[in-house]
Amino acid sequence: MTNPVFSALGTTIFTHMSALAVQHGAVNLGQGFPDEDGPLAIREAASRALIEGPNQYPPMRGRAELRQALAGHAKRFYGFDLNPETDVVVTSGATEALTASIMAMASEGEVVLIEPAYDSYRPILEAMGAKARVVKLAAPDWRLTEAALRAAFTPQTRAILVNSPLNPIGRVFDRQELEALARVLADSNAVAICDEVYEHLVFDGRPHLPLASLPGMAERSLRVGSAGKMFSLTGWKVGWITGPAALMRVVANAHQFITFTTSPALQLGIAYGLEHGMEFTLNLTRTLQANRDVLRDAIAGLGFKPLACEGSYFLTADIRGLTNESDRDFCERLVREAGVALIPLSPFFADGKPDNLVRFAFCKKRAVIDEAVARLRAFFK
Ligand code: PMP
Ligand code: GLN
Repeated sequence: MTNPVFSALGTTIFTHMSALAVQHGAVNLGQGFPDEDGPLAIREAASRALIEGPNQYPPMRGRAELRQALAGHAKRFYGFDLNPETDVVVTSGATEALTASIMAMASEGEVVLIEPAYDSYRPILEAMGAKARVVKLAAPDWRLTEAALRAAFTPQTRAILVNSPLNPIGRVFDRQELEALARVLADSNAVAICDEVYEHLVFDGRPHLPLASLPGMAERSLRVGSAGKMFSLTGWKVGWITGPAALMRVVANAHQFITFTTSPALQLGIAYGLEHGMEFTLNLTRTLQANRDVLRDAIAGLGFKPLACEGSYFLTADIRGLTNESDRDFCERLVREAGVALIPLSPFFADGKPDNLVRFAFCKKRAVIDEAVARLRAFFK
């Protein structure tokens, strides 16, 4: 007998839409990956390490250079004092970081998901025997409220997954929302697993506030990050978790039996990037913000109704001005007939609703965005 959690699943919506994009020669504004590789200097640092070594198993918690660079990054941007020995674990991408964190925290209890929710959270917590309880945000404001959180938390709550900036809706939770969450957590025995992979990709001068920076929250937060998003190197799959030593010990115990460790050359490349390459990331944020604006104005002119986007790679839009189809049917028709791939939002909700929203990835070259817009314009004219 196979595990019912995984036998009930298909491939992810990202894989599905990317395959359709290839099949139909479509411009891919679906799966979120940049089409320009990150800094050459980072790739050179990694390639030097690949040739000169080390090429054997790195330490289970990650190379010391990278753990130190991550502690330095957390200090520089948020004022955190992390001990690289005890408070940092390097993983093979944020996907593994999330899996290790959920495995460390979830068992037969409950885990709160904020929907729309990234697709990897639920299957892992369910495979651990936990039950998901959902806080469903509502368009167009998608605000997190204390009342909704209190309704989802019970004495069995072990953890909450908090993704900010939030894929797919681009929400960046503000201080008021995070303070509400902190009050609810303080009254519980739960830990927050904070998926902050888009921490630097926040627009319009807004700050990214880690929940861990609020009073009392560092002790009960695990922060997950990804070098893929920071340096436009998504294929490298270098991620990390930081948090208090007592929790990180358990997270490391899970990590040691998932991958144990991550390619040493890539770790050294990212350590170099964190120390010398942050200018790239800060520029990337400006480029992405400009892409968001161009795309938003263009699709608004075609009958889509764009929603606000405060951060991440993603802009969402309401399609009801264009069609009565479900988001998924619309995306599957668009990739075939217009040659543009998008992502429907309904897979990010357990009940598949709402189904009138689509996601555009704007982490693409301007020429690619322009081509997608030209194809959409020709299709909807
Ligand atoms: N969390 C979110 C919200 C993401 O969007 C992604 C990937 N795009 C991940 C986690 C996984 O990151 P990684 O590629 O580093 O595994
Ligand atoms: N996180 C990426 C996105 O939201 C996809 C990553 C994947 O394909 N697993 O588009």
